[in-house]
Amino acid sequence: MTDNKYLADLLFPDIDKTVDYFEEKYPPRNLAEGAKVTRIAPSPTGFIHIGNLFGALVDERLAHQSGGIFYLRIEDTDQKRKVDGAVELIIDTFKRYGLSFDEGYTEDGGVGDYGPYRQRERAEIYQTVAKHLVEKGLAYPCFCTEEDLDKIRKSQLEAGENPGYYGKWARHRDCDVEEIERNLSAGKPFVLRLRSFGDISKTVKARDMIKGELEFPENNMDIILLKSDGIPTYHFAHVVDDHFMRTTHVVRGEEWLSTFPWHLQLFEYLGWKLPKFIHTAHMLKQEGTGKRKLSKRKDPEFGIEYYNKNGFEPEAVKEYLMTVLNSNFEEWRLQNKDKDIDEFKFTVNKMSSSGALFDMDKLIDVSKNVISKMDAETVYEKVSEWTKQYDPEFYLYFTANPDYTKEILSIGRGGKKPRKDIAVWSGVKEYMGFFFDKYFVPAESFPENLAKEDIVAVLSKYVSIFDPVDDQNTWFDKIKVLAGDLGFASEMKDYKQNPDAYKGSVADIAMILRIAVTGKTMSPDTYSVMRILGAEKVVSRILAALDIVRKGEN
Ligand code: GLU
Repeated sequence: MTDNKYLADLLFPDIDKTVDYFEEKYPPRNLAEGAKVTRIAPSPTGFIHIGNLFGALVDERLAHQSGGIFYLRIEDTDQKRKVDGAVELIIDTFKRYGLSFDEGYTEDGGVGDYGPYRQRERAEIYQTVAKHLVEKGLAYPCFCTEEDLDKIRKSQLEAGENPGYYGKWARHRDCDVEEIERNLSAGKPFVLRLRSFGDISKTVKARDMIKGELEFPENNMDIILLKSDGIPTYHFAHVVDDHFMRTTHVVRGEEWLSTFPWHLQLFEYLGWKLPKFIHTAHMLKQEGTGKRKLSKRKDPEFGIEYYNKNGFEPEAVKEYLMTVLNSNFEEWRLQNKDKDIDEFKFTVNKMSSSGALFDMDKLIDVSKNVISKMDAETVYEKVSEWTKQYDPEFYLYFTANPDYTKEILSIGRGGKKPRKDIAVWSGVKEYMGFFFDKYFVPAESFPENLAKEDIVAVLSKYVSIFDPVDDQNTWFDKIKVLAGDLGFASEMKDYKQNPDAYKGSVADIAMILRIAVTGKTMSPDTYSVMRILGAEKVVSRILAALDIVRKGEN
């Protein structure tokens, strides 16, 4: 019989603290009843995806809606995947989306009494808990090499038994202390394994706040707790950290469901209170008639960088994600058009337990809506910020004359039914570039149903009747008169009743003018466009269009 205390000291000679010491150092938090403590625990790989944001939104809402704490822990146990600047990227990214951390790694550095918040800096804590498990006979060193493990796997295969390190296959589970000492003095590396007393023929029950009651076979694997460099596996670190950081709600991806029984067992062996668990569904994408997981390799829209690069407004992305997260959000939004999204009461039980379908068209729609509610000043600021980084040339034109630009951005804004032309900041150049000569592309053709001589007549006559001080009614009346003079119906209803009596309608005249001044068949309303462009530009563009038509085939 191994003396566990002796073994614990042998394996962890430098560990002089106890689990009780850390229990005292990190006492239960002094928060109001019902306040939730949540965290995100990303690895600093430099890659943040939309699923991370999705989960973080759940964490942030649960914490901040309840007067709790939302903290950032960095899971940097895998040095190979670590990327410089990744932590700053995480903090900045989440901040852009209005998700600010109260504790852990924050923009003000490490904040809070439950740190360190980087796993690399917590070795002593993990090892103290590990030592405690050894003392209790619940963990042991395993000196198996890769080769040894391979052999075990092969024998298991031959015997038709489950692969893994467990039960009678766990070679070092019952080593006597002399053998361990021999291995240690030979300098052999070891991992620390859990001594599992689980039985797979028995079941363990657990609750997930989305999925409800779950039942798993008990874990019988002697899973690795500490790797040979003394650094914990995710499983061990998760249990230790979420316990000592006093996390009340663990929100994480459903890929952790399969190892959930391991975590349950660890909490049980350590005698620690189980936090609540919320395993969030993967983001899915419609492909043909089926759905598949969004993938880093295949789907650029999986990475958060895609949204920055394409000028998605973070507020809109957040708004969209909330529609995916909570089935009642859209209805709430319809009734509370102007309220801050944080006034919506997010609840876990309105979350779907199956996959979350990511729908780009829907995101675009939501974005248009969100942006349509902004005033011109806000849009101006946001587009300036985005173009400065991603389209510096357009930025120069856009910001050259702020009053002019803001006047353009004011078109169709502010009323009861604001226009919804802008979905992403990267689309602004296409939307309003024609206001700047640099980006104005004269149209090469006009609608084919119109005769060349009519287009020429419209354009040449209009030059002399256009007056920039006309109000909208006068402006439109003049176009109606012009229509009538040229054999087009001045009123749409007349045209509809008797289309054969006319060459076309006033709409055709308006279209000719729109194409001439904007170069496009779709634009904000032509009256506003002309008013903002001013007489000089309007006239010169119409004259240029006239030239093109005269020379052209139309
Ligand atoms: N580092 C883990 C991940 O990125 C964290 C999972 C968790 O939240 O517990 O998947």
